[in-house]
Amino acid sequence: MKRLPFSAVQARAIAACHPTPFYLYDAAGIRGAAQALNAAFAWAPRFREYFAVKATPNPHLLALLAEEGCGADCSSLPELLLAERAGLAGEALMFTSNNTPAEEFIAARRLGALLNLDDVGHLEYLARHAGLPAFISFRYNPGPLREGNAIIGRPEEAKFGVTRAQLFAGYAAARDLGVTRFGLHAMIVSNERDPASLVATARMLFTLVLELSATLDITFELVNLGGGIGIPYRPEDAPVDLAVVGAGVRAAYEAAFGGAGLPRPALALECGRLITGPHGYLVTAVRHLKRTYRQYAGLDATMADLMRPALYGAYHHITVLGKADRPASERYDLTGSLCENNDKFAVARPLPTLAVGDLLAIHDVGAHGHAMGFNYNGKLRAAELLLDADGSVRLIRRAETLADYFATLAL
Ligand SMILES: *Cc1c(COP(=O)(O)O)cnc(C)c1O
Repeated sequence: MKRLPFSAVQARAIAACHPTPFYLYDAAGIRGAAQALNAAFAWAPRFREYFAVKATPNPHLLALLAEEGCGADCSSLPELLLAERAGLAGEALMFTSNNTPAEEFIAARRLGALLNLDDVGHLEYLARHAGLPAFISFRYNPGPLREGNAIIGRPEEAKFGVTRAQLFAGYAAARDLGVTRFGLHAMIVSNERDPASLVATARMLFTLVLELSATLDITFELVNLGGGIGIPYRPEDAPVDLAVVGAGVRAAYEAAFGGAGLPRPALALECGRLITGPHGYLVTAVRHLKRTYRQYAGLDATMADLMRPALYGAYHHITVLGKADRPASERYDLTGSLCENNDKFAVARPLPTLAVGDLLAIHDVGAHGHAMGFNYNGKLRAAELLLDADGSVRLIRRAETLADYFATLAL
């Protein structure tokens, strides 16, 4: 059974001030997730989690995570500006972009972010438009040497990163152009809960760092293991044992860099989902009940608020607030109001008998939830609220209004 960090009574009180649907983030849970990750990697030199801004692009959350020692991993100009608004700058920022426009490299350079390049050709492009920084990292795509997983796909079919041969050429070119500080990055899996897969990525990168250093006579100061650590979406799923991941990466690190006199690179991660995913809820009300060939509950949220079920067939657990202890005696398709038949949060989901006005909490939407929202069918984006440890609630992004929707039209 999945627990909620707020009661049904509390949710009703919040909904009385903030109309449903809304996203509700649990500050204590988010802090706890960052602390657990930091603890698992406390052994690593200069460890830093760069929270993947795209997962939950809200500067209030970035600032909260900065208090826990996290930086921000950005992939676009708006994400860089969100991180700047949260007070982050310099090497607390990682810029991991692809197919990058010049103005984004310029902004990343202005903020002093660490640059993680998706192609060797970006060296020359960067030099021309924004100037080469002292530090350069490349994103490695191992292609057929590694398997990805279902969400991210097979590495050789992924658009990201450079080949092994290109890494050698790229670092040599960077060195010859005057770059003096080097990092290496890979992100191969998404929502991965198997520690062995995460440790294998680390081992692969550490081995590569040794080979690149020896061949090119350069020193790596940073290895960035990417994000992609998974979370338990289904009640029967187990969370990733971060202590096992940390210990496995540590063993690989010591095997690679434990020798006397070898440089010991700093370690970084760019997790998004792991940090905020389990600590965000979409609170939505039952608007209509309908029975045709199936039994439907029409909610006031739609796939435009949360597209993961429609996009990936993702499972999100759903609690009927105030009825969690009642038997799940009915089966409902939970729908939004888009003119799209895949506008469903769940199909034939066993739930207690619903009534119009019931509040539902859709779990594990803290990452890649609100962020993937859109305006199809003229739907307006929901508000984001932050539940603080003392039970108080803060509006951290208001709901969109009709005026927002019309604001971009030419007059
Ligand atoms: C999406 C992404 C992340 C974060 O992924 P999670 O699955 O949320 O941990 C990290 N780094 C890069 C480059 C990404 O594209």
